[in-house]
Amino acid sequence: MVRTRRDVVVVGGGHNGPVAAAYLARDGLDVLVCERRDIVGGAAVSERPFGPDYLVTSLSYVVSLLPADIVADLRLTSHGYHVFPQGPYFAPRADGRYLRLPDDPAEREKEIGKFSAADAAAYPGYEAHLQKIGGVLGPMLDEIPPRLGSRRPADLARQGMLLRHLRKLDARGAVDITRLLTGSVADLLDRYFESDALRGVLAVSGVIGTWAGPRSPGTAYVVLHHHIGDTGGQAGAWGFPRGGMGGVTRALAAAARSFGAEIRTSAPVSAIRTQSGSAADPRVSGVTLASGEQIDAGTVITTVHPKIAFLDLVDAAHLPEPFLADIRGWQTRSGTVKVNLALGRLPVFASHPDYDPQVHGGTIVLAESLDDIENAFQEAVSGRPSALPFADICIPSVFDDSLAPSGQHVMSLFTQWVPHRYADSAEHEELEAYADRVIARVETIAPGFTASILHRQVIGPHQMQQEYGLVGGNIFHGELSMGQMFHARPAAGYADLRTPVRGLYQAGSATHGGGGVTGIPGRNVVRQVRADHRADRWRRAFRSGLPARDS
Ligand SMILES: Cc1cc2nc3c(=O)[nH]c(=O)nc-3n(C[C@H](O)[C@H](O)[C@H](O)COP(=O)(O)OP(=O)(O)OC[C@H]3O[C@@H](n4cnc5c(N)ncnc54)[C@H](O)[C@@H]3O)c2cc1C
Repeated sequence: MVRTRRDVVVVGGGHNGPVAAAYLARDGLDVLVCERRDIVGGAAVSERPFGPDYLVTSLSYVVSLLPADIVADLRLTSHGYHVFPQGPYFAPRADGRYLRLPDDPAEREKEIGKFSAADAAAYPGYEAHLQKIGGVLGPMLDEIPPRLGSRRPADLARQGMLLRHLRKLDARGAVDITRLLTGSVADLLDRYFESDALRGVLAVSGVIGTWAGPRSPGTAYVVLHHHIGDTGGQAGAWGFPRGGMGGVTRALAAAARSFGAEIRTSAPVSAIRTQSGSAADPRVSGVTLASGEQIDAGTVITTVHPKIAFLDLVDAAHLPEPFLADIRGWQTRSGTVKVNLALGRLPVFASHPDYDPQVHGGTIVLAESLDDIENAFQEAVSGRPSALPFADICIPSVFDDSLAPSGQHVMSLFTQWVPHRYADSAEHEELEAYADRVIARVETIAPGFTASILHRQVIGPHQMQQEYGLVGGNIFHGELSMGQMFHARPAAGYADLRTPVRGLYQAGSATHGGGGVTGIPGRNVVRQVRADHRADRWRRAFRSGLPARDS
């Protein structure tokens, strides 16, 4: 049996794994990343399901939440990271009209005014409302949450951080935040808008990846989560990374390797091991691969779904029951279906027949009203796939010529909903029929579209779970509901990226800062590891009477 030793093993080579590995290797540590699949990227991956001529962004499709400091620290541009800004919202309608939301305020007012003068006048107030709340909550997304409820002096000091953020609020702001965190996206939009067209487009970002309809409490926050990339003053709008989302993870992996980390693919971890005989205070001792190989390490970071990490890989005997109960009860549904297409030509929209990169390269939304979206969700709740799924569509090949042969295109359609129980079985026929309905919906606003399809791929919740490790089909490793945010992500007392096993840390999307290609958990876990290593060195030095050295 092969047995080796590393300073740190990272389980999972999605995007958070390579982020953590890159920072730790830059610190001089000997780091190994083990990825189960034969390709890095996880849910941020580009693959070739249609043969060598097309590069398809299999699951996630746009980037905005990756902080600028990660891009700079890891020198990602020198590893090929490049983002093409995405065009604005374009929502073509079955009646032959369309709504666009361009960045220019005067133009936007004109566009919204086609549907409602009152909505056009209200829009700046809506944006200002989200900006104001984003200015308070946005910076908190970047931080390691304090242990709320703990009375330890260090934790009490960190709890003061919350006050630092909340001090920015006046009485109105405090109520606005409370309503945003507890209300539905419908509640939010009801306060500002009347037209179906605008309410439909804006409601989509409240339910993306969520097992909740626009009238479900908590969905207003999801709008803000998708807005925070803008409010943090970073790259601003959403964009298409060159080479699809796999372009992001390829750059991250190259950065990690350039600092000396090793990334192994086709290396599934079958166990995260703890030292024997330490049930009361377990300490991690390394990992075992499915091949039988053992890799010892004093620090292990898991970036896989928490149900995989803590119910499959760690021996339950070493985890306290309340923690296990939180992980077992972790909500991880979504009913999302991703449809990827190769097209012989761009769609010709009946409402906007002329080619315009800001339209064809925009966020193309099929959602005629908030009620349509709610109905689609209610159908899935009652066990049927939606008859009229909504779709958030993009055609990244409008800007990126590396994705398809000249004149041809790849299209990504993010759609909802099918019943969440589709995670349990393949439901192949139902999914194909569902994809037919999505395509028929595009056909109504772009006649001739169906005939332009050269290849199609339909990825439902079961495949997301089995092939990509997204348990339950949830795109964020766990729902972005209020009970699963901040200090509750993913378990009481462990939102600080530690776990009940000493030396074992967590940094996947089910931790705070996660839910999207943010890299924040991967970067923050390194801060936590460094702080704990420093404290260990001081403890050892104190015991031996020697001065501690920061290595
Ligand atoms: C359809 C869809 C659309 C999305 N759209 C967007 C979007 O446009 N923009 C955005 O920002 N976010 C989007 N997201 C969310 C985003 O992609 C994820 O939140 C993010 O990529 C998760 O990254 P991660 O590194 O935390 O985990 P993952 O990417 O899930 O990585 C975990 C890795 O661990 C591996 N693994 C699992 N088990 C083991 C094991 N036993 N041993 C070794 N390795 C293992 C998995 O194969 C995987 O590669 C989307 C997600 C989906 C599914």
